[in-house]
Parts: sequence; C-alpha cells; structure tokens
Amino acid sequence: MAEEVKNDQNKEEEVSLSPKEKETETPVNTIPKSPSDEARQKAENGEEEQPAPVAKKGNLFDRLFANGNRLITLRGSDIAISNETRRLLALFSDGTYLVSKDNRFDGAVYNFESNVKRRKIPIKPPTYVTLNEISAIYAYAERGGGTVDVSAEEAQDMQIMIDFVNIIQRASKKKVSDIHVVVGSSSTILFREGGIMIKQSEYGGEWGEAFVRSVFAAADISDSNYNQNEFQGAQKLGSTPLRGSNGKLMLPHNVLAIRLQFNPIAFGSQYLVMRLLYADDNPEGSSDLRSLGLGKYEEDLFFKMRSMAVGLNVVAGPTGSGKSTTLQRNMIKLLQEKDYKINLLTVEDPPEYPIPGARQMPVTNANTEEEKTEQFTKALSAALRSDPDVVLVGETRSLATAELTFKGALSGHGVWTTLHANSAPAIITRLRDMGIQPYMLNDPELVKGLVSQRLFSKLCPVCKQPIKTREGSPEFNRLKNALGEYGIENVFVAGPGCKECGYKGFKGRMAVDEIILPDSHFLNMIIDNETAKGIDYWISELNGRPLKDCAIERMLKGLIDMDEVERWCGLIDQRPVY
Ligand SMILES: [Zn+2]
Repeated sequence: MAEEVKNDQNKEEEVSLSPKEKETETPVNTIPKSPSDEARQKAENGEEEQPAPVAKKGNLFDRLFANGNRLITLRGSDIAISNETRRLLALFSDGTYLVSKDNRFDGAVYNFESNVKRRKIPIKPPTYVTLNEISAIYAYAERGGGTVDVSAEEAQDMQIMIDFVNIIQRASKKKVSDIHVVVGSSSTILFREGGIMIKQSEYGGEWGEAFVRSVFAAADISDSNYNQNEFQGAQKLGSTPLRGSNGKLMLPHNVLAIRLQFNPIAFGSQYLVMRLLYADDNPEGSSDLRSLGLGKYEEDLFFKMRSMAVGLNVVAGPTGSGKSTTLQRNMIKLLQEKDYKINLLTVEDPPEYPIPGARQMPVTNANTEEEKTEQFTKALSAALRSDPDVVLVGETRSLATAELTFKGALSGHGVWTTLHANSAPAIITRLRDMGIQPYMLNDPELVKGLVSQRLFSKLCPVCKQPIKTREGSPEFNRLKNALGEYGIENVFVAGPGCKECGYKGFKGRMAVDEIILPDSHFLNMIIDNETAKGIDYWISELNGRPLKDCAIERMLKGLIDMDEVERWCGLIDQRPVY
C-alpha cells in the first residue's frame, strides 16, 4: 500500500471546479410516499413530493448529508481527483473534511489540501477516520437513497416496484427488522418493530399478488420463475438497482440487503417475509458491548475469549437474537486490542455488518440451499488457506462447516461462529448431533467459549408499573415464592403505554448473555447427556451464571419485566430448563 501512495505522490493532482449546472445531475423526481391512488395520481401528473432532509441524532451518514450538504469529491461532482486520492479523503460542500488517519501525512493528501486552499474552496480542519469509513461514505453518496429519475410513463409501468421501494423506505426510517406481507382476499403489511409486530396497511388481494411477483422479479438471486406453491428464498442487495427497473430504482441507502422468503399458505394464499439488514447500524464502528445490554461480568468473559489466540468460540441464539451485532462489535474490539496487527477474515452469506479492518468474504452465486452450503464451505476452506489469524464464520449450518471450524481451531487459529441452539450447553449437544467427534468436542483447548444470547424488550421508563398492581395474580405469587418481598418491591411490568414509548409499553431491547468457558469435565458431562449435573458443576465450580440469573438481575433493576423473563427462561419459581 505504501508503494502505491509513493507513486501517487509524484503525480500532479488534478483539481478542477466544474460549472454549477452539475447540480442538476442530482435526482429530481422522488418516489411518491405511499402506494395509495392519490400518490399514484401525483406521480402520473409529474408532481413531486420532496422529503424533508432529516438529521437523525447519532447517525453519522445522516449528519454528514444533512441540510443539502453534498460530497464534492464524489466522482462526477465538483472536484475532480484521482481514484487513489478519493480512497483517502472526503470533502463536503460545507467544508467538512474527513481524512484517513493512517494516510494523513501522505503526499496525495498534502497535494489535495494545498490545491483546495489555492482555489479557495472552503475546507475545515480535518476529522480523522478509517479507510473503511471513507469508502462507506462514498458508497452511501453514490447510491443516493431510493430517489429516482423516472418519467411519468415509467412511473406507471413500475408503480408496483415503486411501491416496494416506498415500503422499504418507510420501514428503514423506523429501523424495522422484518416486513411481513400476507396475501389472501386482501393484503396486509406488518412491520416488526422493536420485536413487536405492528399492522401497517391493508390493500386489495390483486395488489398483493402483483406485489409478491414483482418483489421476486426484482431480486438479485432468483434463478427460477416465481411459483406460488413453492417455498422460495431470494436476496436483494442494496448495492445494485432493482432488476427490471432500467437501473433507476435502488433500495434506500441505509439498507445493505434484504433477505426474502416466499411461502405458500393454505387456501391459495401467499406469504412474503423480508428481513432488512442495515448498513448504518453501527456506522462509527463502535466496539461497545455494554451498550447492547451486557454487564461487566459478561464483558470480562468476552475479554477472556478474545485474549485466547487459538480455539473455537460459538454464539448461539434464535434468529433475531442479535448474535451478528454482538459478534461484529466483538470483532471490532478484537482488532482494536490487537492494534489491527492480525489478519481477520470473515465468511458470511451475505456480510451483515461492516467490520473495519477485517477482510469480509461474501458467498455469491448460490441459488439453492445446497449450492449455498457448497459455496459457503468453499469460501471457508479458502479463508483457512489464506493465512488468517482469526476467522469469523457467519453461521455453522452443516457438518461440513462445523468440521472446517474445528479444523481451523486445530490448525492454530481463532474461530468465531454462530449456531442455532437453545442454550450455551446445547451448543455442544448440537455439534455432537451434527456429527462432530467427542474427542474434539471435549477438548477445552479447542472449545473455548460458549455463548447463548436473547434480546429482551426493555420496559418504558416512563409508564412502567410496579408488579404490585397485579397483586394476587399467579405471576405475582410465583415471584413471591421465588424472590419474596425483595422481588415484589423491585419488579416492574409493562404499563398501558405513553407518548415516550409510542403506546407500546416497551422501548428498545437489550441483549442478555449466558457464557460458559468450559473445562473438559464439564464438556464430558454435556456430551454424555448429564446436563443437570453439568449445569450444577458449571455454576458451583466454574462460577457460572445461567441466562435466567442474568435476566433476573436486569428485572430487579427495573429494566425488563417479569413476563419477558418467563417468556425466555421459564417460570420464575422453577429451576431453569436446559
Ligand atoms: Zn411508555
């Protein structure tokens, strides 16, 4: 890399201001906001609805591009610079200037700054960022957030696809995790927002059928034709236009990808579920595990796992339990602790979140489940041959993948992965049932960390109510049995809802983790199905804390309610179920 920069130093930087009319190149027509007839009419009449630029607190991208602020070092924008220089810096129309921290003394950067100053283009003192952040900013600017330049005629032809982009846009503003489209005699759209399903809108049955077909056709990977009687999966990446839109329709810029699942349901109806993956979930590359909900105890155990250079660490949990977010932050933390002097490779399908400093390998060209598994296995073998120190394996979903993760650990690497399992000990039994040999599973030099994570809805701090309001109810009595007066005094339940929480009673979610750093005695007991004995040993000899204890601790702080604890961990006055 230093070589390339040297070459660039000798080149004369070309900096030129293009004429003002360049600005008309930015998209003019925006998509009508809702798929209603009214909006459709507006689109046909060529009327525009300009969305107000909103600057959300805490979102770096939105702040940079707020109030019409433009990236003037963008390709084809006001300032012409070489691609190599563009990699290192970004200058905005308000003078905001971002430079790669590691390259701040490069000749190319120095030349750029002096040229800009000579031409009297406004430039503020630099903000130092990473190369990854700069490339993310250009990707964001190039994709220009779902806005399109379509004629009224085209809008009519593509209306249903425009509806699709609109719905995604509405959902992405609220950071909705999944969108459900249920098509029968009428069509219902539901958003899963903060873990709760909320009905959004209702359309006719015909619209729904056309919608599902159109979404299938717009996806990147959909080899065969849409068949309403089959279970079909597909994916739409945010980096490419919708298929069939003549390159004019894009997903909103903060959407990295959408996973699509098409299901037939009884009586000729259809059901589409879309999972949204966001690019700006962690734009500043936070490595903070505490803000996800983890406490000091869990943070210390994660630190221990990171400090072991060799071995396998597995994070388990159901879909939507935030496994990937926790792993992403943990990997960012690992890179920071090692001062970026390790080779961290990831194999993911698709990469869910950017990890600055890691080389993230996507799994591509896979249509069917079998092909996906095959491609995934190939990518993982390639990663293990590419001189890694640490490998993050997106998901262990086949014996072939599981064997490769162990192979990685055996050959002296650190391997991190996720797995579908119901608890931390169940990771071992799941791997055993997949076909991993006991002599590897019971080796604490190979199996380093077992984590099980759940996301709990957080009580709204404004309208939560003391459990005393439910005095005499079965759950009240169970709590009294389990924790006595102390529990009764300190436990809260969801209230009726208020303005603060959008009348839901809950606001946000928190991760609660169960973490086991096993020894061979523990592993052997779990492999031999002596789970209860194993759990007792873990708690008494290895200072273990079951998920239920961790959840009860949060409950006694008034952060989560008793219904949530019982939902995920079983009845409060019973021994936890494993
Ligand atoms: Zn509230």
